[in-house]
Amino acid sequence: MQILKGYVFRLYPTKEQEQLINKTIGCSRFIYNYFLDDKIKEYKETGKSKSAFDQMKLIPLLSKEKEWLKEVDSCSLRNSLLDLERAFKNFYNGSGFPKFKAKGVHERYKTNNIKSSYKGNHYETIKLDLKNKTITLPKLKEVKIRGYRNKEVIPGNIKSAVIKKEAGRYYVSVLIEEPLIRPAFVPTSIIGIDLGIKNLIVTSYNEKIENTIKINNKRLIGLQRGLARCKAGSKNRYKMKLKIQRMYQKIRNARKHMIHDITNKLIKENDIIVTENLDVKSMQKNHYVAKGLNENPISEIIRMLKYKANWNNKKLIQIDRYYPSSQICNVCNYQNKKVKDLSIRKWECPVCYTNHDRDYNASVNIMFEGLKIYMKGIKHSV
Ligand SMILES: [Zn+2]
Repeated sequence: MQILKGYVFRLYPTKEQEQLINKTIGCSRFIYNYFLDDKIKEYKETGKSKSAFDQMKLIPLLSKEKEWLKEVDSCSLRNSLLDLERAFKNFYNGSGFPKFKAKGVHERYKTNNIKSSYKGNHYETIKLDLKNKTITLPKLKEVKIRGYRNKEVIPGNIKSAVIKKEAGRYYVSVLIEEPLIRPAFVPTSIIGIDLGIKNLIVTSYNEKIENTIKINNKRLIGLQRGLARCKAGSKNRYKMKLKIQRMYQKIRNARKHMIHDITNKLIKENDIIVTENLDVKSMQKNHYVAKGLNENPISEIIRMLKYKANWNNKKLIQIDRYYPSSQICNVCNYQNKKVKDLSIRKWECPVCYTNHDRDYNASVNIMFEGLKIYMKGIKHSV
């Protein structure tokens, strides 16, 4: 079995390489917007529109007209069209209509590792050299990198790389397919976790983990006011923008570290982890509106638990989101419908008189419900 892992390195391009990266990002954006426009127009006229593969065939033609497209990695342009197709797929599944890409937002491009052989020699377009701390990328050639100091080599096949610019810095995320040898799964421990807003996590061992990342709103508002006062196109405006981007980057990084720590601990200490299958989208609407921080920590925790469980031969079980985990008394199973009211944080069971903490009680029920699902699965497979 193979698994895909992403490795992120900081890139240190030379001035020329930096220019080429920026150019490639620009061309990828141009292709995206050009064909989005084309799709909209064609659809209005004919009720149909081209697939990404039909669009790809038009790139050489377009390059004759716009010579600068030839200067960049052509793979990145094709990936732009696949991105566009994905955006339309998401639209058909209920997301918003694809938007035109603006300069300075999500500045990135993707390229694939293309393998070939010639006269008995094998070639790959992306090469990672951790000893010499370089990565070879199409058109850019060798670029200096930093990261994963403790590794000399990463075994596996490189599939693709995403080159991105964030707050004036450059990064590359390399996707590597690694072989996975999986021992038999024999669980000896289980944990239920209740995910929430104030306490990010309450576990069935009655541990509470708070969201420790505080956003300095005052400073952010101050910076944004400062930005509004700067003249459009001025150097000060650019500097101010960079300051805001760096602040967001800092918060995002701190949060990522926090979530890595939390999920690493959960995965290390437990064989089966049970959570609710939450409707994160609607929670996001209510609580996480801060611009520039589009990922919600809860969906990030679940996303990490999913892949880390897979890597470490552990199991993540997600129970039905409509299971009334908060209302059921974990001692006597009485269902107290009054607890539906979210403001009730503590309650006493009217049948067995146990005093309950809302979230802790829920996490115990989540654990039992997950155990039930796991046992059922075993019965079916035996
Ligand atoms: Zn009870």
